[in-house]
Amino acid sequence: MNTHAATPAAQGTTPARWLAASAALLVALPLLWGAGFASADALHDTAHDVRHAMGLPCH
Ligand SMILES: [Zn+2]
Repeated sequence: MNTHAATPAAQGTTPARWLAASAALLVALPLLWGAGFASADALHDTAHDVRHAMGLPCH
């Protein structure tokens, strides 16, 4: 019987995972905060620009 299965879920929370999670939060939270306080026009323009950047049909 192998009791030392090294699956990712069995590795627990390593310092590297905490670092990755912290880095993700540092990137994500300012974006969420900024979007939350942005005006509707700014959000609409941003979504419009992203649509054009992705090459989706627009106007
Ligand atoms: Zn457009």
